[in-house]
Amino acid sequence: MPGYVEDTIVALATPPGLAAIAVLRLSGRDARRIAATILGDRPDDERVERLLAGSHRARLAVVRDPDSGVAIDRVLVLPMLAPRSFTGEDVIEIHCHGGTLIPDRIHRALLAVGARAARPGEFTERAFLNGKLDLCQAEAVADLIEASSEAGRAAAWQQLEGGLSRRVLAIRDALLDARALVEAHLDFPEDDLPAEAEAEIGSSLAASTSAIDALAGTFARGRLAREGLRVTLVGKPNVGKSSLLNAVLGHERALVSEQPGTTRDYLEEPAAVGALRILLCDTAGLRGEADEVERAGIARTRQRIASSDVVVAVVDGSAPLDEHDSAVLHACAGRPHVVVRNKSDLPAAWRGEPSALEVSARTGHGLDALASSIAAALPQAEGPEPTDDAPLVTRARHHVALVRAGDAVRRAQVALDLGQGLDLVSCELQTATTELDRLVGASDAEDVLDRVFSRFCVGK
Ligand code: GDP
Repeated sequence: MPGYVEDTIVALATPPGLAAIAVLRLSGRDARRIAATILGDRPDDERVERLLAGSHRARLAVVRDPDSGVAIDRVLVLPMLAPRSFTGEDVIEIHCHGGTLIPDRIHRALLAVGARAARPGEFTERAFLNGKLDLCQAEAVADLIEASSEAGRAAAWQQLEGGLSRRVLAIRDALLDARALVEAHLDFPEDDLPAEAEAEIGSSLAASTSAIDALAGTFARGRLAREGLRVTLVGKPNVGKSSLLNAVLGHERALVSEQPGTTRDYLEEPAAVGALRILLCDTAGLRGEADEVERAGIARTRQRIASSDVVVAVVDGSAPLDEHDSAVLHACAGRPHVVVRNKSDLPAAWRGEPSALEVSARTGHGLDALASSIAAALPQAEGPEPTDDAPLVTRARHHVALVRAGDAVRRAQVALDLGQGLDLVSCELQTATTELDRLVGASDAEDVLDRVFSRFCVGK
């Protein structure tokens, strides 16, 4: 990373807007000098140097405009000096008053005296590069911030504490032992490999395979914990999908209108149902005759149905069923779904199918039953019950690496069984180890790093 160690970076670590305080974070070897330039009870206040030398001690100070010396704000300064900081570098936090003007002026002042604006995720990236966190833990920082369910938070916390990394590294160590065992017998002519040595290698491969498979098998549950479940509301225009979405979320989010076909795109909102994160998607209706904009919406609706964990098909109980409703019900067949008969507060236009759930977005009738029907329709997550200390695989990146590692060990086993040569066995074990190294970020893989850190928010 060119210029990486030379730069001192700065970012606003709190969201902009009206708030009691805002926090700016500086990290890098010039952090103290840069902060000192703008702090002081008067311009050139030499007391500031001493203040910034006291690691992990918060002090009050005045921020001054570097050009005019005019006081901008009274702030709390918290130095966390290398290596005892999040990034492993000198970090100075400046806690100023919130709002948009003050944090922005301080940010600009810091840039003017030599700091550079941090890229998204750059603080965490530095923590990783300085060995403060491994790659799984760095990802867990983002997951913890984004967690919107207890299950997601718990999985991210486990990962940040190193639970997943420890498990992966233990498997990696076992693979290295197996490989050492294989290499120790490389000199044996193929046919003369002692039976007990072959059995020992075989059983260590089998143990590694099952450890990898067990960890990979937690992905179904881990994915749900991190990403939540995708629940899609579908129905022809005006049956009350947006109203239901609002009723479930308890606030006005979707567009509600008397005009059919107003919801042309879909909306996503996280809503908590139990410990899981549910995304409710209000989609365009599935009308046959539609203009171009609607047709695009309809195509997306079909895609959403296909990618949903559960579909809620909404029909209007106060109006006769027609072929459009049939199209909706038909589109949901084959996916886990719940049929909802909305507008139960109005006189029924038809006798309900027993399986349809009576609800009213207007009065809230049936909404609790809807939540439990959604939960009941969910595909059951496979894999072992999570325990407090068992790590979950929550990201596809981790799952892919484990699956590849498992496949390589299985190929090593085949090579051993078929007597294809211990060289090949050793080579496959190396492939497996490399996959696990990439998982925790122990091997050099810039593409992986870029992908991981570019998804962070600025200031993290
Ligand atoms: P969408 O097109 O399916 O998203 O439907 P909307 O949510 O925009 O609702 C269409 C119309 O039906 C609006 O006038 C709503 O106020 C009305 N509506 C929605 N749900 C109910 C309900 O449960 N009862 C009654 N009486 N009206 C409803």
